[in-house]
Amino acid sequence: MPSGNVIRGSRIGSAPERPAERYEPAPRQPVTYWCRNGHATEIRMAVDAEAPSLWDCPRCGLPAGRDAENPPGRTRPEPYKTHLAYVKERRSEEEGEAILAEALAALRRRRGRE
Ligand SMILES: [Zn+2]
Repeated sequence: MPSGNVIRGSRIGSAPERPAERYEPAPRQPVTYWCRNGHATEIRMAVDAEAPSLWDCPRCGLPAGRDAENPPGRTRPEPYKTHLAYVKERRSEEEGEAILAEALAALRRRRGRE
């Protein structure tokens, strides 16, 4: 191993090649979102960007809001239900099938046009 071939910048007391300010990113601010399960998610936003009011919690997928005391969805008394569960509550199986078929047909029509 040749000595004296010191990697630049690693020596004690050597001046940094570039001042730190050079590669500092645009100013950012932490924005914290809270979900109903008490997960806090900190997102770093550019200061000049407008933070969205809702953010999906990366841990449980629930919508998270910026108010820790009042996360979105808390006021809803029912447990989470899928859309299908709601549909089944209101409709009979046959009606559900018909709605599903209709929705699929509409989706296929839309896809065919694109
Ligand atoms: Zn969560």
